[in-house]
Amino acid sequence: MTVVVTGAAGFIGRHLVASLAAQGHSVVGVDRHDSEGPAVQHIVADLLDADDVVDTALREATAVFHLAGCPGVRDQAPDVAHRRWRDNVLAAERVLAAVPLTTPLVVTSSSSVYGGATGRGCREDDPVRPRGGYAMSKVEVERRCLARLCAGGSVAIARPFTVAGEGQRSDMAFAQWIEAARAGLPLQVLGSGARTRDVTDVRDVVRALMMLGMTEGTGLVNIGTGRAHRLDTLAALVSEVTHAPAELRVVPADPDEAVHTRADTTRLERLTGFVPTTDLRALVARQYAAACEGMSTVAAR
Ligand code: NAD
Repeated sequence: MTVVVTGAAGFIGRHLVASLAAQGHSVVGVDRHDSEGPAVQHIVADLLDADDVVDTALREATAVFHLAGCPGVRDQAPDVAHRRWRDNVLAAERVLAAVPLTTPLVVTSSSSVYGGATGRGCREDDPVRPRGGYAMSKVEVERRCLARLCAGGSVAIARPFTVAGEGQRSDMAFAQWIEAARAGLPLQVLGSGARTRDVTDVRDVVRALMMLGMTEGTGLVNIGTGRAHRLDTLAALVSEVTHAPAELRVVPADPDEAVHTRADTTRLERLTGFVPTTDLRALVARQYAAACEGMSTVAAR
């Protein structure tokens, strides 16, 4: 009963590996970076490189969670288009080709495919409106997953909304605000304090992913809370928890950033019986404590 997690050295991947191992699963992590997590086996490999060990692991697993990818809508490095194609689209193709059709497979797409919410939570049957290269690469990933479904295969295509918690990627808002608060700097809010985000505790995201892997849920599934929070409220909460001066500075946002995000969680609840209910104050306190204890955030890479 071996479960494979790709992206096992990343922010969500490390939490998922730990939870699966804690539940007694034999876990094989795959990532091009090393990881000190409790995976029974961690294979350092690039998913784009031919590798018999990786192929065997993907072929023989009882379930596969594909989290490896090039995340982040704000990445503007000159090679970003290449990395998004390679690590999102081509890596997903490789996993889809290697995992037998009937093996439960969970692939992480992103809420960014919606291009933002207008007045209500985004539903899985809403049309996609990707606003930039990251979201477009995830639409391509989803297309390839949907082809697996059409071929009679099993795949849950998870669309996580903003995920927060210990070791969050360093390019994400909570990680940046906590770092700024610790350095005594103003907290930068992108675009406007009135913009909103649906933020989910990484522990809840991991539970939802595991349930999707176990219930053989197929198709598109949002992972969010269904609640939207203003950015100025979220930043003020970080100031409060970290006892930092509540100085917020509004700076221009990237046009690829959605103005509002919010999930409709009906399908997640129907498939798994589970809807994340994130306690934001406790979440920020945990992430702050982890940062103070020196838990590494995952650098954008
Ligand atoms: P992350 O960058 O922390 O983790 C991704 C991991 O994948 C990294 O450790 C990286 O080394 C690995 N990787 C990338 N390309 C690889 C390749 N070709 N071969 C082997 N390893 C490779 O990202 P994360 O925040 O943990 O996100 C995990 C997944 O969830 C990503 O697909 C991301 O797009 C998606 N997602 C994340 C969020 C969020 O809020 N964190 C929201 C929506 C979707």
